[in-house]
Amino acid sequence: MNAYLERVLADVKEKHSHEPEFVQAVEEVYSSLEPVIEKHPEYEKVDLLGRMVEPERMFTFRVVWCDDSGQWHTNRGWRCQFNGAIGPYKGGLRFQKNVYEGIIKFLGFEQTFKNSLTGLPIGGGKGGSDFDPAGKSDAEIMRFCQSYMSALYRYIGPDVDVPAGDMGVGAREIGYLYGQYRRLKGVWENGVITGKGFSYGGSRIRPEATGYGAVYYLCEVLKHENDTIEGKRIGVSGYGNVAWGIMKKAAELGAKVTYMAGPDGYVHDPDGICGEEKLNFILHMRATDPMHCKPYADKFGCKFVPDTKHWGAKDVDILMPAAMQNDVTLEWAERIAASGVKYYIEVANMPTTNDALALLRAQKHMIVAPCKAVNAGGVGVSALEMSQNSERLVWTAEEVDAQLKKMMADIHRNSAAAAEAYGLGYDLVAGANIAGFEKVADAMMAQGCF
Ligand code: GLU
Repeated sequence: MNAYLERVLADVKEKHSHEPEFVQAVEEVYSSLEPVIEKHPEYEKVDLLGRMVEPERMFTFRVVWCDDSGQWHTNRGWRCQFNGAIGPYKGGLRFQKNVYEGIIKFLGFEQTFKNSLTGLPIGGGKGGSDFDPAGKSDAEIMRFCQSYMSALYRYIGPDVDVPAGDMGVGAREIGYLYGQYRRLKGVWENGVITGKGFSYGGSRIRPEATGYGAVYYLCEVLKHENDTIEGKRIGVSGYGNVAWGIMKKAAELGAKVTYMAGPDGYVHDPDGICGEEKLNFILHMRATDPMHCKPYADKFGCKFVPDTKHWGAKDVDILMPAAMQNDVTLEWAERIAASGVKYYIEVANMPTTNDALALLRAQKHMIVAPCKAVNAGGVGVSALEMSQNSERLVWTAEEVDAQLKKMMADIHRNSAAAAEAYGLGYDLVAGANIAGFEKVADAMMAQGCF
């Protein structure tokens, strides 16, 4: 391996041994960059790789809130402004019990390359809290969001840093966060946050964008393979906002999601998880009991298998892990490889461990597509929301959808071209890392020391 690259990786491993997710994300991206670093020896002199793994700024703050019984609680909040070379920091907020620096940093690092891939001027950022939204009342969520924004508002802005949703942060939380920002600043700066409701500046198609974008990207892969989406059976994990978008768009294009997995096990619905009744039931199920997908199987009379995942099932054509990080480990990857499925399309951020990803990429019969390209339509449409807000315009669903479709086709084409340019063939994983890196690297070099 290139000596400089090796040195930076060893340094990251040592410095961040307490943040395994961050080390994993850096290793995944940097392992694709060897040919680029060989071609650009000037990067070593300015320590470009070392700079890129150090967030420009990361801070933590206290978030104190009062529950409905009058008891006060103290949580930790973070915002990581990872890389602002190509635009204002942009990335979501994750509210989940297991959040700590390592999760925020890995997400911020990934976001930098993902945002670069969209082709739009957005830098990389991420934030969140170890607040657990499970079982909280609406009023508790509101008070938490208000307290969170009270700590954050002075460090963000439409041209500074633009948060959005992620796990645990949906349209409701975005509304409360924005309401508090507006109250504190006394200005109408709705471009400060994305994922807003339509009535106060949200974009059409934003709720669907990540899932729709993933399916558009999948269609590009299928086109490359002289294949089509029609009649395909898709296995997803998760049944949150992203999986919901996949279910809807897949059905619209003549495919169907036949498997979904949750924390309690998996569901097999050979007729397809589609149609208004089933999709509405999932929304209801998520709102009332987010940790269980068994109620879906009970309601629609299909198979539920507790405490396991469906990875490795043979009666499926495409796999799309859309739940969370490290969902597919080496053991699952071995089963997936043995099942003969051809398409492994990552959707969630870092859903595959690095050893599992290496195993899948080594399978001659498989095509592997990386999350930072596949899920980039979400943040891409967030950038379109920012454009609409700054222009004080509202685009139609058709306009946003057409731009999303084009964005996903461009990401696929640019990734494939980047891999091709370095003699790597149709390697979408390496191609996305290289294409995402090159733009940020160029911008950092051009701007000098920072
Ligand atoms: N949290 C999403 C992501 O992982 C969306 C971020 C955004 O829209 O800023 O990309």
